Amino acid sequence: MATPAVTDLTLFAFDNTYARELDGYCVPWAPAPVPAPKLIKLNSALARDLGVNVDALSTPEAVGILAGNGIPRGATPVAQAYAGHQFGHFSPQLGDGRALLLGEIVDRQGCRRDIAFKGSGPTPFARRGDGKCALGPALREYLIGEAMAALSIPTTRTLAVVTTGELVRRDRPLPGAVLTRIAASHLRVGTFEFFAAHQGPAAVRKLADYAIRRHYPALAEADRPYLEFLRAVAERQAALVASWLGVGFIHGVMNTDNMTISGETIDYGPCAFLEAYHPRTVFSSIDAGGRYAYGQQAAIAQWNLARLAEALLPLIDETDSAAVAAATEVLEAFPGRHAAHWLAVMRAKLGLSAEAADDAADRALADDFLNILKAERVDFTNAFRALYGHASGRPPAAVGVYRSPDFAAWLQRWLARRPGQSAGCLAAMRHANPCYIPRNHRVEAALGAAVDRGNMAPFERLLAVLGQPFDERDDDAAYAEPAPPEVTAAYQTFCGT
Ligand code: AMP
Ligand code: MG
Repeated sequence: MATPAVTDLTLFAFDNTYARELDGYCVPWAPAPVPAPKLIKLNSALARDLGVNVDALSTPEAVGILAGNGIPRGATPVAQAYAGHQFGHFSPQLGDGRALLLGEIVDRQGCRRDIAFKGSGPTPFARRGDGKCALGPALREYLIGEAMAALSIPTTRTLAVVTTGELVRRDRPLPGAVLTRIAASHLRVGTFEFFAAHQGPAAVRKLADYAIRRHYPALAEADRPYLEFLRAVAERQAALVASWLGVGFIHGVMNTDNMTISGETIDYGPCAFLEAYHPRTVFSSIDAGGRYAYGQQAAIAQWNLARLAEALLPLIDETDSAAVAAATEVLEAFPGRHAAHWLAVMRAKLGLSAEAADDAADRALADDFLNILKAERVDFTNAFRALYGHASGRPPAAVGVYRSPDFAAWLQRWLARRPGQSAGCLAAMRHANPCYIPRNHRVEAALGAAVDRGNMAPFERLLAVLGQPFDERDDDAAYAEPAPPEVTAAYQTFCGT
């Protein structure tokens, strides 16, 4: 197979700590050349945040690089090794089967970010996969990542999507694409599992030291840095999952290889958003048992953290029983930490201040509202946005929730709880209750137009709507409407391969 040449083009100011410091944690590998690169979408705003020259990224030579036909100067492309528990079963060797870490840059805020390809050809970790990515899943990852970023939820993001001129074989031939992903890092729970399973404590320690330097530098000075590292990752995941629940996000495939150490959302394969509220909602075609249902996500995050803890045990304490006791204390604290983040999210959504507040009473207020939504099968996003309308003096005329006999009583309780709430509370409430989320039928329509008809207009329109999720706009009213219930009932998502 031809190997692409290193070009003279300095697209990114690379400084590649992973390839440099973690030799043996990845395999140097080059992207597979493709016949006809074409730029489909460039994320100019993200490029600017990264301090990358937007114009330089759109030249034909740069587009060739973004498709894998050349290696930008300073890149050290590697396929990263990782393992993972997939639906509860351990796969000792997953790794970047169709992805490559090109390198790292430091963005304009001083944050180190990975630049990685997805769909850039098979690597030694590809097993039976073709190493490719179809255009639809690439655009889906772009769209949902941008929506999450606009909702202030930590996420990886897409810098560019390029088609390759190849067809990739899925259930039908589809246009192939390479996506350029930006992440705080691609360290996963599964990365730790890989080195624990294959190489032992010294290798895990080297990885943990790297992760601490990169994501939790203050912990390097802690008395028990590896225990505190576990606690810090758990804290970020507790917050992340609470923020997902606040917008009705269902990740869909929370395998340990899809859970980051940084606390960013990663891998938008079979994800979807709730419409009618029900905690057991699942859309993924491969999740028949509901393991990764909306309401399971905190418990699964805790389960995944237990796998991280197992990998870290020999580092936490020399004595097995002491290590287990210390890690168990962190894991057992997780539900409480998540509940605290969830309550903060719900308080924001209900426009309540935490000051001098009664946690149990506020939790009950939130739960009772959700129970009404569940019983009435009401749209989650619109019901909460209606409450914001109420709080800002514009009670909505007709939202499903008002039909419930229980709602009138709940509304009185909520109104009684709200006097004296500050303007800051109202602003926070607005920011916690989007008008526009990536509704599944809109996402499918946008991707269908792009893939089947080469028409990017619906994608661009939806992307623009989702970029300003909190500003209600008359022209965009249709984007706030749920799909017909029969469409949602039949909706299925697939792992983005
Ligand atoms: P994912 O479901 O995307 O999280 O991927 C799980 C594992 O399968 C990872 O190791 C991927 O690199 C690998 N994988 C997924 N799709 C492909 C593909 N088309 N070719 C090679 N490897 C793949
Ligand atoms: Mg993955």
